[in-house]
Amino acid sequence: MICSNCRRDIADNSNFCYYCGARQVVAPSGQPTVQRRLMRSSTDSKIAGVCGGFAEYLGADSTVIRLIWLLAFIFSGFIPGGLAYIVAWLVMPLAPLYVPTATQAPSHAAAPQSTQTA
Ligand SMILES: [Zn+2]
Repeated sequence: MICSNCRRDIADNSNFCYYCGARQVVAPSGQPTVQRRLMRSSTDSKIAGVCGGFAEYLGADSTVIRLIWLLAFIFSGFIPGGLAYIVAWLVMPLAPLYVPTATQAPSHAAAPQSTQTA
């Protein structure tokens, strides 16, 4: 990033400039702010995205969450686990589907190379 005061190149996400000491106001870079909200996953879902949402919230593997939930479902005698899933389904909002903007870099990899030497 560039210092807003002296226009010298400083490390990204710096709070202060090394050279002039000016406080850096980090402009919103268009990236979504990381919000840890418990929401049903709209991308990682088998039934309603509850397990996927828990996995995203906890930063865990959704398969592990599903396995734990399934085991709890079986060993709780099906009703409490099933009720817990339905309650979570009703309570947890569905996460908005985040569609990343596709940045297509032009590829100049296939530039012709002349290997012949005269
Ligand atoms: Zn500066």
